Amino acid sequence: MIISIDKSASNGVIEALGAASSRSGASIRIIDWNDGSLSVNVLGQIEPDALSHPAITAIHQPIKPYRLASKEHREKTVVRVGNVEIGNGTPVIMAGPCVVADIEQLVNAAEAVKAAGASILRGGAFKPRTSPYSFQGLGEEGLQILAGARAATGLPVVTEVMEPDQVEITCEYADMVQVGARNMANFPLLRKVGKTRKPVLLKRGFSATIEEWLMSAEYILSEGNSQVVLCERGIRTFDNSMRFNLDLNAVPFLKELTHLPIVVDPSHGTGKRSLVGAMALAGIAAGADGLMVESEPNPDSAMCDASQTIDPVELAAIARKALAISELLKVEEAIAV
Ligand code: PEP
Ligand code: MN
Repeated sequence: MIISIDKSASNGVIEALGAASSRSGASIRIIDWNDGSLSVNVLGQIEPDALSHPAITAIHQPIKPYRLASKEHREKTVVRVGNVEIGNGTPVIMAGPCVVADIEQLVNAAEAVKAAGASILRGGAFKPRTSPYSFQGLGEEGLQILAGARAATGLPVVTEVMEPDQVEITCEYADMVQVGARNMANFPLLRKVGKTRKPVLLKRGFSATIEEWLMSAEYILSEGNSQVVLCERGIRTFDNSMRFNLDLNAVPFLKELTHLPIVVDPSHGTGKRSLVGAMALAGIAAGADGLMVESEPNPDSAMCDASQTIDPVELAAIARKALAISELLKVEEAIAV
């Protein structure tokens, strides 16, 4: 059972539900959606008498296994990263280099992507590389550089964590933590980021079904962290002519299944610079709440993923067109109502 609660009237109700659930051997977990509403996730049976408190606005019996992520009990969640809102109807662009190399590179990239229309800076400090011999990222030094670029530009930063032991240090520096495709089903990592209250960008594993992906989001939500954004970044199919295949079916389908915001990563989704712009706009047209794009001033000299990195001039064109597409969709929706 999921119980929706009006936070402003919630005095005493959590305690009452807690007492009632422990009498019947159930357990409860509270989730704060940061919009004045709470959900109580009840695992087990609870006495009906406990359910008549005036702060209780609705009671749901979820059918989906991803009960907290499901739209069955909630229409829409807006995730705040610093002062940026993801999911409020205006597409958010997260951009920056694949990997953080040094402060000069990152500040230059941050200024350029900001001028192009990005409102969140991305950059990897802990990098999951296919080869153990490839550059693995600067680690904590990379996090410090990200914080330096934030101080220089005011952009909040998102960066990847690969292991539970990296979560604490990453949260000290980052405004949002990214769980990468290769770790989508790293359950100890999901639980660990779920115990924080940092926004989480959860990328889809490249062989994960939509339900498996939503169950990974559920791991985070079930620990009490409501600030989860899903990121479609391409899957493996029989066709290896591109690095991955960006599954844009996932975007409108997820909008039917979940209240969580969804962003699209056309960089990893294609692996090919010339395709990034078209697929970014296709993602917005499909209903995505934002984009994650690898971009820096000299893409050819990027230390990692140069072939899919675009320059800020192209990023600016994507940002302008993405805004225009989302405005058009809003106008069309308003006419339809
Ligand atoms: C990244 O965003 O840098 C990255 C490694 O992405 P993914 O986990 O989607 O491969
Ligand atoms: Mn990359």
